[in-house]
This record gives sequence, structure tokens and C-alpha cells, in this order.
Amino acid sequence: MSSAHEALQLVDRYGRVARDLRVSLTDKCNLRCSYCMPAEGLDWIPNPDLLTDDEVIRLVRIGVSTLGINAIRLTGGEPLLRRGLPSLVRQMISIPGSPEVSLTTNGIGLSQLAQPLASAGLSRINVSLDTLQADRFVELAKRDRLADVLDGLAAASAAGLTPIKVNAVLMRGINDDEAVDLLRFCGTHGYQLRFIEQMPLDPMHGWSRDRMITADEIQQQLERAVTLTAAAASRGSAPAELFRVDDGPQLVGIIASVSRPFCGACDRTRLTADGQIRNCLFAREESDLRSLLRSGADDDQIAHSWVRAMSTKAAGHGIDDPTFLQPDRPMSAIGG
Ligand code: SAM
Ligand code: SF4
Repeated sequence: MSSAHEALQLVDRYGRVARDLRVSLTDKCNLRCSYCMPAEGLDWIPNPDLLTDDEVIRLVRIGVSTLGINAIRLTGGEPLLRRGLPSLVRQMISIPGSPEVSLTTNGIGLSQLAQPLASAGLSRINVSLDTLQADRFVELAKRDRLADVLDGLAAASAAGLTPIKVNAVLMRGINDDEAVDLLRFCGTHGYQLRFIEQMPLDPMHGWSRDRMITADEIQQQLERAVTLTAAAASRGSAPAELFRVDDGPQLVGIIASVSRPFCGACDRTRLTADGQIRNCLFAREESDLRSLLRSGADDDQIAHSWVRAMSTKAAGHGIDDPTFLQPDRPMSAIGG
């Protein structure tokens, strides 16, 4: 590879440099979380459009070897549904530069996959869990799978995929009374809980700013039961504001994606399961690397196309802007 090639960076006009790659491995899912997918599912990406394992690895290799990517998070849809996931992880980790590879999952199937993934070199895992009540889980995710998620969490812990982070989205009148229960559960099991403000990314367009449970509300709810002290002076490019619980070892994160956006420090670039680069969750445009690579483009051409895609990244998501429009693709197809 040429030296000019090695100097490439995924930098935008505001000077932000992307080093964290989110790879969506599938848009399909075995749950139907109400903020993410309608009960009947979606029109899935046609199979021929999905990147093959070799294509995913080639793009990730270009990102790591040429464009300065040093962290990869596998997501979806539900990434555990991707066949041969441990092998994909192993191949990513063996790319020169040894990127850190982590996973965001709903936890279903993790009881079987946690150990193979840990053996393949997966470094960390985030498991999404919005309720500890089985009947609510069904209401929220349209499937009776809470026990599988809890088993998955235990298996991840046993496999040493620590620190395990648990992601929770609170919704008004649905699970917004569970913040403290989730905190206690995570404290007992040694998981790090992170609350994420709900974002307008659902294809049903059910989100509204005034119904959203804000980070401040979450903090106030927790502070009625525990003492929170800021655990870090600055969150850097990490989206979560971290708090220590009752001056003990437990940490809790609150991700104020909407009310206190962290776009100014964003270091992410996203690859969809059908090979499109998105420079933001909320981007309205994508860059088609799949067509490029299938038409025989070399690594250099692909790298430059990726650089161009990132250079036009908007300053912020603009959710509070009156002209805000949701992206055409839902979160499950973009990769959360
Ligand atoms: N299926 C996996 C899971 O649920 O963890 C990975 C994909 S999911 C899209 C990634 C994360 O996005 C999950 O933690 C989920 O709760 C979160 N998410 C999905 N839709 C969201 C929304 N509208 N607002 C905020 N978070 C959302
Ligand atoms: Fe599936 Fe994750 Fe979306 Fe829930 S949030 S429907 S688990 S992709």
C-alpha cells in the first residue's frame, strides 16, 4: 500500500475524525421492540444485496489498515442472527492493527454464543434490556424471551466478556418506573447500566419530543433512591455521562442523545449490512461501497469513496430543528 494511502483519515469539515466503525451485520431481528420495529417486521434487505463475509472483512480491513479505524462494534438488527459470527470476529481481530471488536445484542442466543465469541477474541458486549418484567417484555418486544436475555447475560459474564454493559430505553407509561429496578439488578450482577434517550428512528414514527423520557428525568428518578456523583470530568467522545452509585463500585451511564447531543465529539462511521456508508445515524444520504467493490474497484478507490462520504458529515443530528426529517431507513437497518 502506498504511503499516501496510509495517511488517509475519515475527517469531516468540522475536524472530527472517525475511528469507531459500527458494522451492521443484518437488518433482521427476533424481537420487535416498539421503538425500533413494527410487530409485523419490515421489508428485509434482499439477500443478494447483503455483504458476504468476505466483503465485510475486506471493507473492515480497508477501514483499519488505511483509514485509521481502531474500534469496531458489530450490531444490526440482531447481529447474533448472522451465521458464522465467531469466525467473522476472529477474522476482524487478525487484521493488522488488531482493532478492538465489540458487540451490541439483544442477548437472545448468547447463552450458546458467548463462549465461542470470547474465544474468537470479542472484547466487550452490550446487551439491551428495557424491562425485568416478563409480561412487559412481551408487550414491549412482542416476544416472550426475557429468560433468554437473562441467560445470555449470565453466559456473557461466565465467558469473561466484561465489563458487560446493559442498554435500556425508558418509555413513558410503559417502563419508566423501572429505572431503579434495572439499576439494582445491574448492581447485583456487576453489569454497567446505561440509559439511552429514545430517538426518532422508528419506522412507525411513534416518537415525540414531549413524550420522550429525558436524561434529566432519569437522573432525578435514580436520585430518589441512590446518590449519584459524576464519575468523569468529561465524557470525551463517549456518549454516556457516567455516575458513581452511592460512592461504591457501581457506575451508571446516561446517554442524552437528544437533550444533550454529543455530535461535536462524534467519532463514528457506519457500514450497513448492504454495504452503504453512513456518516451519521440521522444522515439522509448514504455512499454505496457495495456497488463499488462489486464492480471491481481497488482498495484505494474504496478508501477514497469512504473518505468523501465522511467529509460531508453534518454538524449535528438536528432533531430539535423544525425542519428535522427522520432518516429513510429505520435504526434496525442502519445499525444501532
Ligand atoms: N438488536 C441489538 C440490540 O437490541 O441491542 C442491536 C441493534 S439495536 C438497533 C442497538 C441499540 O439501539 C439497542 O440498545 C436499542 O435499544 C437501541 N435503539 C433502537 N431503537 C432506538 C431508538 N429509537 N432510540 C434509542 N435507542 C434505540
Ligand atoms: Fe431488534 Fe435490537 Fe431493534 Fe429490539 S432494538 S427490535 S432487539 S434490532
